[in-house]
Amino acid sequence: MKITKMWTEIYRWKRNKPIRNGMYTYSDAGLNVVKIATDEGITGIGLGGGMTDDGKVFQAIGAQFEQVVVGQDPLNNEKIWDDLWQPKLIGRRGLTTRVISAIDNALWDVKGKAANMPVYKLLGGYSDSVPVYIAGGYYEEGKGLEDLAQEMEESVSMGAKAVKMKIGGAPINEDVERVRVVREAIGPDIDLMVDANAAYRYYDAIKIAKRMEPYDVFWFEEPVNPDDYQGHKLVSQATSIPISTGENEYTRYGFRDLIETRSVAILQPDPLIMGGITEIKKVAALAEAHDLPISPHGNQDIGVHVVAGVSNGLTVDY
Ligand SMILES: [Mg+2]
Repeated sequence: MKITKMWTEIYRWKRNKPIRNGMYTYSDAGLNVVKIATDEGITGIGLGGGMTDDGKVFQAIGAQFEQVVVGQDPLNNEKIWDDLWQPKLIGRRGLTTRVISAIDNALWDVKGKAANMPVYKLLGGYSDSVPVYIAGGYYEEGKGLEDLAQEMEESVSMGAKAVKMKIGGAPINEDVERVRVVREAIGPDIDLMVDANAAYRYYDAIKIAKRMEPYDVFWFEEPVNPDDYQGHKLVSQATSIPISTGENEYTRYGFRDLIETRSVAILQPDPLIMGGITEIKKVAALAEAHDLPISPHGNQDIGVHVVAGVSNGLTVDY
């Protein structure tokens, strides 16, 4: 099989209301899509990360990469990944790796369609059903504690056994109160994750972690800057709440460093960002060798295959 054409499609749409986390406000939602056509009539569709711009940079990088990809056998994803990821030419991390992720995910879509099998089976088929959590609990203009509690109750009534909420976008006292109210609303049997989107310095992360401990938090996500491995470690050592991170980490090399410093309990590689399914497979194996679970960040359509396909998949982000 040969790749005959590769192109990008960018979709953006306005949110009804902007949503805010500990660091960023999002007025739009969107998708960055790579499509790969083959001489056997199969078209692969892949998604890549990056929402803050209009997609023009993503498209320009995609156009560059098309020259590398066209003519290759789409089933040779390892070879194509190595051909694309040339640190000296394109940088080690960033938007280029996000576009590679989209290309790689599209190659796995081709693979699945060619084999007439779901991707999770090709990855190893560890499980036919997987736990999922509903991520929400953003800050919004005019959204009070009652609205937050109601949102979480709705997630639970949809069948969620786990929910995630944002912290880090309000003073610590206020956020602790938000966590308390959500725990009270969902009851003791639903898992509750909190996500600071790297809003804290390590000492404030420790301060809020200690105060959240009575509310049985399942994980505390991105407490500090993604490059501050030692800060993650300090927070991990100071609280009984498991610390998670990884949505802003890139490639097997970044996760190697995260794992080697034993800075977090749960790894959250994003297959739309860190290098795609080919790369997340390697991170999963590396994590497995250190007895660590992975919980892919972001898009559920790819995350569900990763969690179901590997032995140490913890839960799917929805
Ligand atoms: Mg997050």
